[in-house]
Amino acid sequence: MNPCLCGMAGDNSGRCNCSAEQIQRYHSRISGPLLDRIDIQIEVLRPKTSILNAPRGNSECSAIVRERVVEARRVQSDRAGKANALLDNGEIEQFCSIRGKSLNLLEHAVEQLFLSPRACHRILKVSRTIADLDQADEISIEHLAEAIAFRRLSARPDNF
Ligand SMILES: [Zn+2]
Repeated sequence: MNPCLCGMAGDNSGRCNCSAEQIQRYHSRISGPLLDRIDIQIEVLRPKTSILNAPRGNSECSAIVRERVVEARRVQSDRAGKANALLDNGEIEQFCSIRGKSLNLLEHAVEQLFLSPRACHRILKVSRTIADLDQADEISIEHLAEAIAFRRLSARPDNF
């Protein structure tokens, strides 16, 4: 989905002339319940062309990323016999438990971002996956915070 009708909102070029009202109307075309079913929602800014030509530096090459993903999927399969995305509610309680400060953070996010129970379950599953990619046995508060950040589009009150 584009950020607005012209697709330029939020980039630094200043080429977007859409009004706040137009942008809001554009976003309301995708319904809250539909957005709620999308696990990972992030805003992607238009890259500067110089980035596309720049040397890769020390960013992970795709072969290494692929290895981590394959390993994370193996861990998920060993744990529950399926990928995290397919966990049912009982399995989420069993395999994606969080405690203490993490629980407080999720409760706070529910209040602040008007998250539905389904959104909460999706956040917990994505947290588990982030922890798996990090080769962590437990979901840390950082893993949870990252998963919550991936839901920022549904945090727009106009989607409810
Ligand atoms: Zn625009």
